[in-house]
Amino acid sequence: MKTTTGFCPEKYDKGEKIIIYGASSYGELAFWGLKQNGLSPDYFRDRAVIKDKYMGIPVIRPREVEKFKDDYIIIASADYFHEIKNHFEKKGMQHIYDLEYLLLDTEIEIDKLTKRARDIFMNKSNYIDVIYQNQGINNINFTRIQYVVSERCSLRCRDCTHLMQFYQHPQNINLDSYKDSFDKLLSVTDSISEMRILGGDSHPHST
Ligand code: SF4
Repeated sequence: MKTTTGFCPEKYDKGEKIIIYGASSYGELAFWGLKQNGLSPDYFRDRAVIKDKYMGIPVIRPREVEKFKDDYIIIASADYFHEIKNHFEKKGMQHIYDLEYLLLDTEIEIDKLTKRARDIFMNKSNYIDVIYQNQGINNINFTRIQYVVSERCSLRCRDCTHLMQFYQHPQNINLDSYKDSFDKLLSVTDSISEMRILGGDSHPHST
């Protein structure tokens, strides 16, 4: 059951400001979705202090958003979507929206998108799954599960976020134990929106 509302230009009171919560690829999609509907955000919200502007729009910091109680917040994030929404609801904010209309009912011009935003747009069902998750107190929903199947990688890239160059004794996972633990996870989970199989280099270990 969906407990949130998609931002829809027809319901927008043009006197209010529009803030896109998240100056990243989802924010980029929200930006172009608004543009396609003849609108433009007033602000992006982002934690990164180095960003003063994103896509030519001023960036405000997290706490500043709470000053805009009567304005329109579009949550351009799949990670922590419901946590962000709950936070603003507790602060008494009324106009909190998701991207459903902008992603599904708006003709976003793909050629204008960065590669990352295009990839997300092509997999927009991940975001849609997240916003439809039932968030009752007895539900366990995961936005994303990342499973590292191997610590081995021959490339050892300097900036590897999995720190592969630092493993002195890299291991492959045991596929039987992986299956067992995944079965256990599924038996107690209501939904998983996205599952990623990662390495190291997962290909040599894919059989
Ligand atoms: S896991 Fe990816 S980023 Fe890390 S060393 Fe291997 S190829 Fe490079």
